[in-house]
Amino acid sequence: MSRELIDLAVERLREDFPNKSKSWIRRALIRFMKNTVKEYGENVWVVRGLPELGDKYPTYVVRFKDGRYYCSCFESSWGLRRRSEICTHIAAVILYRNYRKLDSEVYASVINIECVDYYLEIPSELRRKVKVVKSVRVVDSSDRLNPRHRVTYVIYADEPMELRAKLVCDGDVRELSLRLARTRRYMIELLLR
Ligand SMILES: [Zn+2]
Repeated sequence: MSRELIDLAVERLREDFPNKSKSWIRRALIRFMKNTVKEYGENVWVVRGLPELGDKYPTYVVRFKDGRYYCSCFESSWGLRRRSEICTHIAAVILYRNYRKLDSEVYASVINIECVDYYLEIPSELRRKVKVVKSVRVVDSSDRLNPRHRVTYVIYADEPMELRAKLVCDGDVRELSLRLARTRRYMIELLLR
């Protein structure tokens, strides 16, 4: 497992649950790192219990239904108290899913430019299949009305493909031929930071 990828997966979990404690995150991470989560079917996971985290059962079943997660620990004697919370079995499943998503294959091409004005256009018929994301940083703001930016475009899709794109940078128009090459989703996240 890649450290950067785990960090990103944890960051996502924190963003989704900003009010949860550090120990909640830590327990989810322990469950995940001990490889206790197994996908059992569509929207069903089995989480192996860890006695050191207070689990009384060897396994717990987590389900995702109607936009909500449910855990079999809700049905235990502590269920009434726990039902309103999100247990760390569920948190471990979310972490596992974040990780899997970030680790999934994607096909991408990267463009780096420095301009005041910039624009990237991909053929409209590809807009359903091809996504474009960018990060923009000001590198020179001495002309305050026209700051210069460093722009990273990532063009990506679920399948390999070649496409033509039009890149405009300060009035300079270029026709690009882009080949989307295989990478992992988290590499895109790292590029855009
Ligand atoms: Zn649970």
